[in-house]
Amino acid sequence: MADFPPYPSGLRLAGRRVVVVGGGHVAQRRVPALIAAGAIVEVVSPQVTPALEGLAGAGEIAWTRRPFEPTDLDGAWYAIAATDSSQVNQDVSEAAEERRVFCVRSDDAPAATAWTPAVGRHAGVTVAVLGNRDPRRSAAVRDEIVEGLREGTIASRHHRDRVAGVTLVGGGPGDPELMSVAGRRALMEADVVVADRLAPRELLSELPADVELIDVAKLPRGRSAQQEEINRVIVEQALAGRSVVRFKGGDNFVFGRGYEEVLACREAGVPVTVVPGLTSPVAVPAVAGIPVTHRGVAHEFTVISGHLPPGHPESLTNWAAVAGLAGTLVLMMAVENAPAIAAALLDGGRLAETPVAVVCDGTMPTQRTVLATLGTLADRLAEESVRPPAIIVVGEVVRVAHPDAY
Ligand code: SAH
Repeated sequence: MADFPPYPSGLRLAGRRVVVVGGGHVAQRRVPALIAAGAIVEVVSPQVTPALEGLAGAGEIAWTRRPFEPTDLDGAWYAIAATDSSQVNQDVSEAAEERRVFCVRSDDAPAATAWTPAVGRHAGVTVAVLGNRDPRRSAAVRDEIVEGLREGTIASRHHRDRVAGVTLVGGGPGDPELMSVAGRRALMEADVVVADRLAPRELLSELPADVELIDVAKLPRGRSAQQEEINRVIVEQALAGRSVVRFKGGDNFVFGRGYEEVLACREAGVPVTVVPGLTSPVAVPAVAGIPVTHRGVAHEFTVISGHLPPGHPESLTNWAAVAGLAGTLVLMMAVENAPAIAAALLDGGRLAETPVAVVCDGTMPTQRTVLATLGTLADRLAEESVRPPAIIVVGEVVRVAHPDAY
């Protein structure tokens, strides 16, 4: 019978009893997907791994702590024989056959009545691959299909579920690899993408051909007029029944004016969804090897916009109070005002020797780190011709990362 191909079927196990015989690593690998499918999972085994014991303790599975008995399969819909004894697996198989319960065998696939495929999911599509009993091949094919769906090389735009509205998508610090799966999916499924200068632009070239791209970097200058124009465009597109992605670098709510867009949509009755992104004040120091906190060194980190110099009438930052903080300072949009900010921190009592790292073009091929101290920062920025975008990290964590430089 092994010559016949398997008949694929998607089992809907919610609320149905599934018996897993065996409590080792094979069982442990199978159980989470069963739980995720809503099955009532019962593990039968004298011993189980600590992970399975934890699931039993949390009430996510039932654990019958003894050897298998054929009546364990009474009332089961599906069984998995995953012990390390082929005799026990054979017993489970036979008991399952008698009760007409489909049964997977970890040790002897040809003897089993069901096979476990390699499974992947993307955007509500489940991919299951049975690779003629070659698990590596199944996994490789599965990976390629899921990757294709994710990247849009295999079209999966599901117009049925698509709703008009705006999704704010945070693209992370620049490297497309550092963007979330949810964010990528939203991009690939959009009708319109409204993109910023700092958004990971490589991803835009992968957009399906029928997606309209509106490049905000090309809108007329003047910050507030530009923002009003963006609000107007996203609302107008959504009201026309289209699915709009507002695509920005980092996270849309961290100096990204994202909430102004939320308010504009709300006012117009347009539904908004938010997909957070890896924000640069944390991610950029991290890729440069600088931790923003470190045990015994910094128990806080403070992220501050430096787009206005200290003392500017519109500045909301109390730089004297900032100088008095003990932890790490992460300055954004601060290249131009860095000399004035360093002066304010020194005035406020920070030491001139305080280490400073300036990380430019974080996660991009041109990434570099310029090391300085509060005392030398202004000169170092000029010497190294530092240009935005850059993240400036002030504090002892910089010394932790670069002990030889200080
Ligand atoms: N919403 C973004 C920040 C926008 S403000 C976020 O969450 O990351 C723009 C500032 O972010 C830049 O001036 C710079 O200070 C910082 N920034 C963003 N991406 C960066 C990168 N790849 N490398 C260095 N700094 C970056």
